[in-house]
Amino acid sequence: MRTLGGEQGTQETSESSSWDSVEQLTINLDLSTTPDQMVEIWKKNFDNGYLNSRHFRDYWKFKVPNIFSPGMNCDCLHIVFDEDEVKRVLLDPLEMFICGRDPKAVFKELSELDNPPALCGKVFRMGEPTYSCRDCGTDPTCVLCVDCFKRSAHKQHRYRLSMSVGGGYCDCGDPEAWKTEAFCENHAKGLAASEEGREKLMARMPPDVMGRTKIVFATVLKYAYQILTSELTMNLPQDLQVNFPGNEIAQLSLAEEEVYCTMLFNDETHTFEQVIDTLKRAIDCAQKEAVDFATIIDREGRCIVKCSNFATCNNVRLVIERQTSRQPTNQRPLKVVVMPAHVMAHQVGAMRLLNWLQQLLGCCEAFRILFSDIAMEASSKEMSVVEGILNCDTQLWKAARSVWHHLFISGLLMDFENKKRFAKIFTKYYNVMMKDFINDDHDHSYSISSLSVQLFTVPTISHHLISIDDVLAILLRFFTSECERRRNDEGKLSFERNNSALRRAMYVLYDLKYLLSSKPETWNEELRRGFLHGFDLLANLLGWMQGMDATKRQVGQHMEFEPEWEFAFNLHFKLAPVLSLIIDWCGTDKKVLTKVYRNILKKIGECLESEMKTPTKLCEVANHSVISIDYDVSYRPVSIHLPLSRIFAGLNLLLSKFGLDYYGFENISNKPNPVQIIEPVLRTQVMVAQVQAGMWRRNGYSLINQIYFYKNVKCRTEMFDRDITLLQVGASLIEPNEFLIHLLNKFDILGWTMKNYEKNIFHINEDEDTARQITILVEEFLNLIIQITGERHTPGVGEVTPEEQTMKEIIHQLCIEAMPHSALNKALPEDTSHETHIESVIDKIARFKKPIQGSAKGVYELKDEYFDQFDVFFYHYTREEMSRAEESQIKRRKVAGLELCCPPPPLPPFTQAFMPISNILQSDVMLYIFQTVFERTSNLRARTFSETQFHMVLHLIGYALWEEIRFLSRENSIGYHFTDRADKFDILPLMESLRGNSRIDNHKVLLDWTIRKYKEILVKRGTVSEPVSEKMFVDTEESKAEENEKKRRAKIAAARKAAIMAQMATAQKNFIMEHKAEFETSSEMKSAYGSLESVMDVTEDVSPVAYGPGQTAAIDTSKKLVCILCQEEQPVTGPGKGFVYGTFVQRSTVMCQNTTKLTETMDSMGKVLENSPFCINPDVLVAPFVSSCGHPMHASCWQSYLEGLIARERRRPRPRPSSSYDIDKSEFLCPLCQCLSNTVMPVLPGLNSFATKKTTVDEKADLSFEEWYEAITLVTKSLVWVEPEKSKENDDLVDIRKFDRDTICRLRKALIMIGRADVLCEYPKLSGDVSRVLVNQGADEMIKIFFQCVLTVGFDETINSDHPRLSMAICQAAAYTFLSTQNYLESEQKGLFELSSRQQDTLSSFARCLLCFPHALNEDELQAKILEDQFYGALETLFQAEKSKASPIDAVDPFSILVTLLVCSSVFSDSGRVRQRILTVMDLHLVRLAFAMQVIQSFLVVELPTADELMEEEGAKAYTPGQTILLELYEKVRGKECACSSSRFIEEIEKCCKPFLRCVALFGHFFCEVAAPPEMKDYGGDSIQSLLRYIGLESIEEIVQKEWFFSYAQRCLARRPTSECTLKYPLRGRTLIELPHDYSELINEVAQFTCPNSDGDESRTPTRCLLCGAMLCSQSYCCQVELQGVSVGACTNHAHYCGAGVGIFLRVRECKIMLLAGQSKGCYMPPPYLDKYGETDQGLRRGDPLHLCKASYNKWQRLWLSHSVQEHISHAMETSQSLLQTDWHHV
Ligand SMILES: [Zn+2]
Ligand SMILES: [Zn+2]
Ligand SMILES: [Zn+2]
Ligand SMILES: [Zn+2]
Ligand SMILES: [Zn+2]
Ligand SMILES: [Zn+2]
Ligand SMILES: [Zn+2]
Repeated sequence: MRTLGGEQGTQETSESSSWDSVEQLTINLDLSTTPDQMVEIWKKNFDNGYLNSRHFRDYWKFKVPNIFSPGMNCDCLHIVFDEDEVKRVLLDPLEMFICGRDPKAVFKELSELDNPPALCGKVFRMGEPTYSCRDCGTDPTCVLCVDCFKRSAHKQHRYRLSMSVGGGYCDCGDPEAWKTEAFCENHAKGLAASEEGREKLMARMPPDVMGRTKIVFATVLKYAYQILTSELTMNLPQDLQVNFPGNEIAQLSLAEEEVYCTMLFNDETHTFEQVIDTLKRAIDCAQKEAVDFATIIDREGRCIVKCSNFATCNNVRLVIERQTSRQPTNQRPLKVVVMPAHVMAHQVGAMRLLNWLQQLLGCCEAFRILFSDIAMEASSKEMSVVEGILNCDTQLWKAARSVWHHLFISGLLMDFENKKRFAKIFTKYYNVMMKDFINDDHDHSYSISSLSVQLFTVPTISHHLISIDDVLAILLRFFTSECERRRNDEGKLSFERNNSALRRAMYVLYDLKYLLSSKPETWNEELRRGFLHGFDLLANLLGWMQGMDATKRQVGQHMEFEPEWEFAFNLHFKLAPVLSLIIDWCGTDKKVLTKVYRNILKKIGECLESEMKTPTKLCEVANHSVISIDYDVSYRPVSIHLPLSRIFAGLNLLLSKFGLDYYGFENISNKPNPVQIIEPVLRTQVMVAQVQAGMWRRNGYSLINQIYFYKNVKCRTEMFDRDITLLQVGASLIEPNEFLIHLLNKFDILGWTMKNYEKNIFHINEDEDTARQITILVEEFLNLIIQITGERHTPGVGEVTPEEQTMKEIIHQLCIEAMPHSALNKALPEDTSHETHIESVIDKIARFKKPIQGSAKGVYELKDEYFDQFDVFFYHYTREEMSRAEESQIKRRKVAGLELCCPPPPLPPFTQAFMPISNILQSDVMLYIFQTVFERTSNLRARTFSETQFHMVLHLIGYALWEEIRFLSRENSIGYHFTDRADKFDILPLMESLRGNSRIDNHKVLLDWTIRKYKEILVKRGTVSEPVSEKMFVDTEESKAEENEKKRRAKIAAARKAAIMAQMATAQKNFIMEHKAEFETSSEMKSAYGSLESVMDVTEDVSPVAYGPGQTAAIDTSKKLVCILCQEEQPVTGPGKGFVYGTFVQRSTVMCQNTTKLTETMDSMGKVLENSPFCINPDVLVAPFVSSCGHPMHASCWQSYLEGLIARERRRPRPRPSSSYDIDKSEFLCPLCQCLSNTVMPVLPGLNSFATKKTTVDEKADLSFEEWYEAITLVTKSLVWVEPEKSKENDDLVDIRKFDRDTICRLRKALIMIGRADVLCEYPKLSGDVSRVLVNQGADEMIKIFFQCVLTVGFDETINSDHPRLSMAICQAAAYTFLSTQNYLESEQKGLFELSSRQQDTLSSFARCLLCFPHALNEDELQAKILEDQFYGALETLFQAEKSKASPIDAVDPFSILVTLLVCSSVFSDSGRVRQRILTVMDLHLVRLAFAMQVIQSFLVVELPTADELMEEEGAKAYTPGQTILLELYEKVRGKECACSSSRFIEEIEKCCKPFLRCVALFGHFFCEVAAPPEMKDYGGDSIQSLLRYIGLESIEEIVQKEWFFSYAQRCLARRPTSECTLKYPLRGRTLIELPHDYSELINEVAQFTCPNSDGDESRTPTRCLLCGAMLCSQSYCCQVELQGVSVGACTNHAHYCGAGVGIFLRVRECKIMLLAGQSKGCYMPPPYLDKYGETDQGLRRGDPLHLCKASYNKWQRLWLSHSVQEHISHAMETSQSLLQTDWHHV
């Protein structure tokens, strides 16, 4: 047992005998001892030299259980500790004792003794931002906190932002962490003093304080260690037990029956749901409680779930264990422990003391030195506390672990000497820790072994550990021993799937990387010994890996099981950086390199040993023969894992630096020869080639995946790239002809090289498949030769710098296409610090093309002069990239007027060691192969020829020619004789003979290029004298003619295509336009309402008027529609099948003016109509919004479409995966444009189609406003005063009983009383044609469906269409829809009538539904009565009748009340006609009165400057009579004087009223179907004057001078309650919150945010509501709440209230937008933050600085204001490919 708890306990008791004498000096302690008394006793004993830890423990023995014991039936959710008591009883006495007097003062003095700190050391909480500097950081783990970063030089450098996972600390002030600028401004101050020794520092501390501190620290540490690590959970160490016999007080202090706790621990195998379910059963609690428990367990690592007597507690334990072991996926049950309450209390006490200690350590350096001495002090008998914790970390629960880890960070890591000492102890126990970690199941960040990153990354410490503590060997021995068990019979590693233990063990590889991350500048013998010792062990491991996961080609049957391959690649992935670093280290010391190289050669030899017996065979080509290894790749196992060969390749690149070479290494037993060395790698290459040739088809995906990763940018540096280097090493060591024959043999294409192959040998075997295979194998062989001879950009192979290597990669990426920064960065390999070094060269070779206006990404374009370096056979290209690159280069060359081929680029020279490689190109075998390929090209019967082979041969010849040109230009060189040698093989004549060969048509330009280059050399060499330029000219002529022909054909094709396109476009236009409809203006498109629009556009000589007697005639709107479902065309008017539009009704808070009332409103939407029946409450402004995409369908077609949808949905399994529409809410997508809908709106005929005869203006109908006003006064009076009995008395006044409706009765009565009965009598009853049309078309049904949806969705009312509130809901929805459309247009700076076709269609159909719906409900007497009541109710409210119950003026929205009145006034018309003349007259009067109300309201709201505020007023103060009245009213209402000019005053009033007038104008346009005035199509064309003219009203000033206005205003204001006015004018929609420019500000902000439900704990997914700015703890159990019976996450809940179900959030840490709709829909979207390359960084993966992009933020703003969030989500969900389902209700 490694824990010390038990042992120590016994030690204590054995020691206690020696304390007997001491005890006599203490008074008897008991519960009544006060803290002050205690401090006195401690002090006295200290002064007398008697004090020891026993004295403290005796005190804690009583006090700790007293404070921290949970009571009976308590649990984690209900425990509350008395924090004041904790401080007073537990902590204060310790501080008091240490200080001797006022602790605060003493601590302050102590910290002032300190030098200013030179090291920051701020410990990061999870999610806190950290900054690393890519220019100065020693490695990427070196980070700064915000404060330091902002005060450092690095903020001007290339920095990266990331988020801490918790546990690390700020490296500011650590010179080893930074190459330069190690100190921020703050910590630089500490630099000067930091040189001071620790003795001096300690000497400054008062000795008595030091002595007391020592005792307290030692006691606290030991106590906490003992209590927390003790496995004896039933008992305490003896000296802390209270209830020993004879102590009555103890008996009293604890309850009669001893309390026990059932403690449930966290593990990583059980899910949240399993724990919750188990708890519900075990302790019989509610879901909510169970969730809370589970949350605490997850956070703290454990939780008390029950406090009771032992039997009960134990029973709970048994139930939990039984429950959780039953779950099939988990072998182990959850860990549950029953412990006595007082034991638990001591554990809590110990944690508190440790926390206190950690805080105290921050006080001064001296404390930290004392602490580390005590914590790391070991005796012969026992380990130090640090050692103990390192040994038993995993036995602790999460919270206890963190307490210790943080204590160690604050106490041990802030000082270099302590850190080093700790690192040595850490290294000593590394094995133990890692073993524990592997057996444990918690995350690595919760293991103490994760502190390695703090220790091993410090260069001096890591070098010290390597040389003195043999750390490399310790780590590697541990890792190899973990691997050793997994070796197979051949001694190679072999892994099963899901190897979690080894997966955890691989953390060792990260530690190795940390240790090696900084190369030593100088070596000493110890360092060499340590490094080489480690390397020996590593070499063993590599030996086990060499050849692992070997595959054999499957013949006959397909592979039955896919073999495991991922694990080996995982291992490679983690090991690769270590290997790269090892090679780097070797490059700095000759001795080390020599030893390592020798070691590896030996190892390769050992591995080959078993293969030495491999048979050999004699091979012959072109008169060269060689004995080659006979290993048939297609029948024997081959592996992709060859780390030994690869590290050997890497080492070879270093040899020449120290004047070494392969031949210099003698005396190695089994020293492998070069042929043997390249053999394994060659096999892999051949296997890859065979896979390409389709020979390994039966081996399944496992092999395909391996090859993919082998060449992938993430793995290739230590795989594919090294293999090519190794083959180059081989090529430089082996005679060229031999080398080629070995390769041909391995590729198994020796037969192909024979002259008679096509004629004789091949004809024996007629197999097509074989021919194809051979063809491809030859291509692959040639390709490999291209790579071996052409890839010279690896430093060491070619004369290049690392920058040139990076440049070559970038050039080839940019030759494919121009790329954005992040994509380019991703395509480049990373070094061990995750850098691609792109910035260091990119500006030299490429231009950055800035993004165009926020939408597109900025891209890099290669500079022209670098295109010459393009090599089409670049070895990192995939096949697809190769063809794309070639295509785009040919295109570019065409534009630039260059030759249409991609000739090989000139190459850099090989280094001395690799020089021999170029001889391959002029070797006999190579030239023979060239010859063979050329011959087969002209042989039309050759079946193994391909154009690619020809292309590759020309490419190789090109390389050779460049090589010769280089040598020619040099004086006194050995020379290169390609042309000489090629002559012997007739290469030039062969090439010339192929000119015009149709088989190689695609490469004829390249052939010309090659011949030309060839001849240039001949000329230079003086072999030939004639110039060859004119041929080139002819060529271009030819190609020009060809070009012209091509162009002509292309033209014809284009014309034909255009014709087809035009046809298609006509058909598609609508559809495409509709998709963009939200963001475009109507002027560019024509919709189904196109005809209407164009008619409405007609500019008349007289400007149009919408309301009143002067009304312009309604426009003619008859038209035809095509059903999108059955394609039938039909006019809207007349009998026949009716049309509908898919329509979406949503509850909206866009126009909400007082968001604080949203919660209340949402909880009782039903009450909204009750409280404010006739208009929208102007304070809250929440109502249904209606929108439609305007795609017509027959009502019947739509119904069968919907039925089909529902039937299909029923067949789907439940619970359904989240879908883009919720059929339970009757949602569906428009069949044409996929627009989200939840109801339909009928498409009704226009006004004109109902008018039997155009009604001419009737003079008699001209009822003046005053007359009307008088009548209304009477009407409203009668409403209030006339009791039923009294009204009988008045019966004789008028004879109105002949009308069967009360409706007419009241108004008529009033009109008769004022003597204008005539206006009512003129209109004979017409036949009921409106109703008939509606019924014929089935539109009455559709109207009901539509209106019912408005009621249900808008107001949570689920009652049928007879519902009395139906018409109220409709009127509010109408008013709201017009109101917010008007607002949207304003915010988009569009003209009032600059509507999109969708808006046009929506408003027009909606208005017609409003016109017709009283008729649709015509037959229903009840509805007619309801409408009538509503009309009079609304009238009363607008009129503000005295003594009525109508809402007072500041609770009335004038526009929405006007809409109610206009819509309901239809009851006055006969059933046959939609609108009557009388109504037209009355309409204007209603508008005028509503406007008057708006003007009066604006007095209440408008803010005018007072005299004091106005220093100097511009215009005159003269007022017109109208203005005077206005001003008087204002001053009366507001009780203050107006000091500003009259023009300013009127301007302000108008500003308030303008939105109202705009709404009235917009409504009039659609409701009365009057053409819009042309000037209002443009933004700013809606002056008050033109608005008033269009509406038909006179100016404000004129209105206010009227007599009625005065009495009306008086009445309104008199009824007004005295309270503050809550109205806001002018009305504006809610905008999204302001976001900071710099993204890191947001991150800093959320770092401060803690979960509101988990006292002070950080939130994992802090999410900001962009509508109101609220910060939420998203996607976490802790903040789930119940919403409408479902438990939902914080965001879903917030969105329900804040946006009526719609939410726009910013997930700060993940840096993405989250949109939510309802409880089942949502999507993630890119954030409005961009890096300097114009790219977003979703998920914050790159960490480059991000800044707000206004344009893209406005996009979200627009989406919100246009009510398109839900639709946007549906589109996103519909198009998303992701298989991952998100439970949107849990976010
Ligand atoms: Zn810092
Ligand atoms: Zn700092
Ligand atoms: Zn820097
Ligand atoms: Zn149809
Ligand atoms: Zn549509
Ligand atoms: Zn909000
Ligand atoms: Zn939370």
